[in-house]
Amino acid sequence: MAVLEEAKIVVEHDQCKGCTLCIIACPKDVIIQLSSFNTKGYHPVEYKGEGCTGCGICFYACPEPGAIIVYKKGAVVE
Ligand code: SF4
Ligand code: SF4
Repeated sequence: MAVLEEAKIVVEHDQCKGCTLCIIACPKDVIIQLSSFNTKGYHPVEYKGEGCTGCGICFYACPEPGAIIVYKKGAVVE
């Protein structure tokens, strides 16, 4: 168990359809689209690795339930 010192998102690549709505919606511009394909043939997105505020806007912009998980600063993770 660990306490996150910074907010972050995790993208479940195989749930992502590469629509880029989360990239457009993110006010911090911390999501990128990968050139690789997921198992469904889409280019998934990925967190840049820093700069996320945990605002959750990407989560609400995403039409695919379960594609984006938002972790707030201070969240307890495995
Ligand atoms: S939670 Fe907010 S800052 Fe973090 S990736 Fe999503 S939209 Fe961007
Ligand atoms: S909004 Fe959801 S489905 Fe669309 S690119 Fe982002 S994570 Fe993938």
